[in-house]
Amino acid sequence: MSEQDQEKAAKRAQWEEINRAKALARQKHGEEAALAATRPVEVKKQFQAVKGTRDLLPPDTSLWNRVERTAHDVFGTFGFGEIRVPALESTELFARSIGVETDVVSKEMYTFEDRPSDLPHDELKEHPPEYAEKILGSYEQGDLPKTLGNGQVMQELRKLLPECKAASQINFVSDDEQTTREAVKKYNELLVRLAYVTSRISFGEFLSLRPEATASVCRAYIEHNLNQLPQPVKLYYMGPMFRRERPQKGRYRQFYQIGAEVLGGNDAPAIDAEVIEMVMTFFDKLELPGLQLDINSIGHNAPECRPKYVELLRTELRKVQDQLGPDSQRRIETNPLRVLDSKLESEQAIIAKLPHIADHLCDACRTHYADVKSQLQLRGVIYRENWRLVRGLDYYMRTTFEITAKGLGSQNAVCGGGRYDGLVELLGGPPTKGIGFAIGEDRLILSLQDAGKVPARQGRDVYIAWMGEHAYAAAVRTAKVLREAGLSVELPPAEQKFGKALERAVKLDSRYALILGDNEVSEGMFTLKTLADGTQEKYTEPQLLERLTQGDGKL
Ligand code: ATP
Ligand code: MG
Repeated sequence: MSEQDQEKAAKRAQWEEINRAKALARQKHGEEAALAATRPVEVKKQFQAVKGTRDLLPPDTSLWNRVERTAHDVFGTFGFGEIRVPALESTELFARSIGVETDVVSKEMYTFEDRPSDLPHDELKEHPPEYAEKILGSYEQGDLPKTLGNGQVMQELRKLLPECKAASQINFVSDDEQTTREAVKKYNELLVRLAYVTSRISFGEFLSLRPEATASVCRAYIEHNLNQLPQPVKLYYMGPMFRRERPQKGRYRQFYQIGAEVLGGNDAPAIDAEVIEMVMTFFDKLELPGLQLDINSIGHNAPECRPKYVELLRTELRKVQDQLGPDSQRRIETNPLRVLDSKLESEQAIIAKLPHIADHLCDACRTHYADVKSQLQLRGVIYRENWRLVRGLDYYMRTTFEITAKGLGSQNAVCGGGRYDGLVELLGGPPTKGIGFAIGEDRLILSLQDAGKVPARQGRDVYIAWMGEHAYAAAVRTAKVLREAGLSVELPPAEQKFGKALERAVKLDSRYALILGDNEVSEGMFTLKTLADGTQEKYTEPQLLERLTQGDGKL
């Protein structure tokens, strides 16, 4: 066999191997699905939330709602509008913005190929001509992405398919052995070629569940030409993010962030200070305990500024290389700034002696940093300078900040933020200034719960204890009136003895029981029992409403 033939034979063998493995996997999958469907009820699998995800239940959700309402209110007072971006984005967006070399993109993202639902069945691959025919059909119907690569594949298929059809007409009867052998060989080669060409199809775009929202907000800013609006554009968002991390307290695979971004306009230090003031105001409103705001400036990506410092840092780190752990040793070459992030006890004394970036900023960045600090002072925002607070990505610049809170153990960062003037441009938009932050809502809630700042009452205002048909009609009417007045009312669906009803009223932590029997109804009176002290009084409906919504008894 020629070298080319050998290569083709090897490819064919490889292709057959892959198909066998796929068929096996399909069979296994099918068996499992069939098994699950026929499993008797009693041994049915107990479904549980996926690892690293959680259900949020009442009464906790009322705390979540309070936090989110406070964010809407506070951010609104600073002139921010809410943006809602999709949970799914093109993988490329995150690869480009967060960077392929980061843990978030390289290990933590949930990514999949977005295949159309009616592709030709995989088994058809064992018959390359039919498979290719179907693929071509799908493409022509617009079911496959019209990428450059797919265009080339289809062009080749259009040429190969007729050739293949012609080559399949082998005359075993009248041709001599040699001619037949050659015809078979040619046909086989065309089959391998077809299989190879169809294997290059991309079925769909790669999508990822968002691991953060800054990139999406920047994409939306570009996509909707928000640069045409008065600048800067001030946006905030809240919602779930997804990262495949090791779950632990304060670290989940589905977690929630509340964040804000200021895009466009200039990079006045007052903007940085106001953004920080806004987060601190939000935390203060929630009475978040033990807050610590750290700030730093990491300069910008021009030769006379950060890169110069990074080189100096690298030189200094090389001198103490032997005393560092393997992670930091690696980072000396890849990203020396990240060494400053190290939490390793044995490295702390060494890191403490390294040069500080603040002493090596260019003039413009130094002035900007000084102005941010005086702007914070003007706003009464208390901060600590932390020269080790860095961000490893090139487009982050100047102001960076982090806020930690109490009661969270080692996952105590509740907010991270910074300036990212290069990001919109990196994503294909015009040069645009940008600064923002993201708050970890799960950690914020944990810290509030740890400090006992949970909403007080979860019970009902009024439990209607009714007995009798007439009483029921009156109870339904009264429930409507009381609910319209904003009271939380429990109207039991079935008749209960009064004793039982009162028991339930107490269990549901109700403040009052409204007793309605047929007697009360014929008198047109309501008996209101205060469950805390057992006292009770009779009222007409207007009196009752007044009693519950005004004056001392107001709920
Ligand atoms: P960490 O160092 O704690 O992993 P990070 O630098 O990855 O945080 P950012 O990407 O800056 O975090 O996100 C901002 C905030 O989002 C964090 O300060 C934190 O409160 C929260 N956060 C990040 N990842 C998670 C997670 N897996 N579970 C819960 N909250 C998270
Ligand atoms: Mg992280």
